[in-house]
Amino acid sequence: MKKHNFNAGPSILPRIAVENSAKAILDLNGIGLSLLEISHRSKDFQAILDETVALFKELLNIPAGYQIIFLGGGASLQFCMIPYNFLNKKAAYLETGVWAQKAIKEAKFFGEVNVVASSADKNFCYVPKDFTVPADADYFHITTNNTIYGSEIRYDMDCQVPLIADMSSDILSRPIDISKYDLIYGGAQKNLGPAGVTFVIIKEALLAKVERKIPTMLSYATHIKEPSLYNTPPVFAIYTCLETLRWIKSLGGVAAVEAMNIKKANLLYDAIDNSKIFVGTVAKDSRSLMNICFVMKEQYKDKEDAFMEFAKTKGMIGIKGHRSVGGFRASTYNAMPIESVQALVDAMHEFEKANA
Ligand SMILES: *Cc1c(COP(=O)(O)O)cnc(C)c1O
Repeated sequence: MKKHNFNAGPSILPRIAVENSAKAILDLNGIGLSLLEISHRSKDFQAILDETVALFKELLNIPAGYQIIFLGGGASLQFCMIPYNFLNKKAAYLETGVWAQKAIKEAKFFGEVNVVASSADKNFCYVPKDFTVPADADYFHITTNNTIYGSEIRYDMDCQVPLIADMSSDILSRPIDISKYDLIYGGAQKNLGPAGVTFVIIKEALLAKVERKIPTMLSYATHIKEPSLYNTPPVFAIYTCLETLRWIKSLGGVAAVEAMNIKKANLLYDAIDNSKIFVGTVAKDSRSLMNICFVMKEQYKDKEDAFMEFAKTKGMIGIKGHRSVGGFRASTYNAMPIESVQALVDAMHEFEKANA
């Protein structure tokens, strides 16, 4: 049976990226060696890295003065590296979910943390809009897509202090104005590639703000000076990211991908909004295009397990909601084809007919 992979992360990748990565594992570009066997200092890998950086810059329209680097440690290590490098006295954070909370927790090791607004009062079902970022903050940290709760900041905000964004789960899902940000980071395993690599887009001028002595591996300066090659980078994961970037380019770029994402999300949100038994969990003006969360209405709550079982028979994978929200979460990342979203909507309709 065809599987429809709605996993939240690691998650669906473009089929072509998986196939080409498999080929590269067997024999990279016909050189007679596996991608897994080459030196990260070889010209073969340098070409992979160079193309990955160039495509990333091209697809996101990254202006001069920014670097993109690939590191290990996941987005979670960035929660610590960011304040280690840039929190000298006080930093501002927007608390929009568990990932934001984890970032806040790490920042507190390094200085004062000002949480400018939080949606914890309503289980993170919305993104706060009214807040003031203190002018003397070293930076302002936001999580653009709240993977667990299904809310998203889908615009590039103006900010008078350096703006830092965790874009783990919505990078490359829409065009962004990079110039509004000083640092953007994320784990690859949601919308870009396999687990094991973290991307960091960083404005070089931000480095001038570092006041601390920082251990070599945790200093951004190290990884900018020897771009992604201070130590052995995650060679395989970077290669799969490259294949994903090539796929995005072949579709016409990030704007084309965004148009598809909007179509997919509208299809599912319309089904939820018009349903007798399902209901969305996120405020309409904060809804994510990447993680679509919904539950059953109160009078149908006891049917959630039955729907989960039913959906399984239709090939749905990974639609169980995170334990802190319950219900269902369909992750509709870039690589998710609209046919799979349609199949989920069909399953919801069929179940509703039989049960409502
Ligand atoms: C998954 C996720 C993380 C954690 O990523 P790791 O690479 O596992 O550390 C952080 N932030 C967001 C928004 C995520 O979705």
